[in-house]
Amino acid sequence: MTPRRKQILRELKDRGVDDPCPMCGHSNFTFAGESEISVSDNRKRNGGCVPIAIIACRNCGYITQHALGPLGLFPDEDV
Ligand SMILES: [Zn+2]
Repeated sequence: MTPRRKQILRELKDRGVDDPCPMCGHSNFTFAGESEISVSDNRKRNGGCVPIAIIACRNCGYITQHALGPLGLFPDEDV
């Protein structure tokens, strides 16, 4: 597991993100990767995109997304 991946998962855990999957009730999730969501507000950092972490349920594949900014983990910041 990369240091970046560990830090994202640790930040989510520290902030109480540990509820079971809302679709199937299982508690095993995997970090699927980072991506970004395009937004119309050009004042946002990263050129109008919100950097996100994608978390997927290991049982049913349900995906949740977490903006990295509130986690203090913008991709251009040292981790
Ligand atoms: Zn699930």
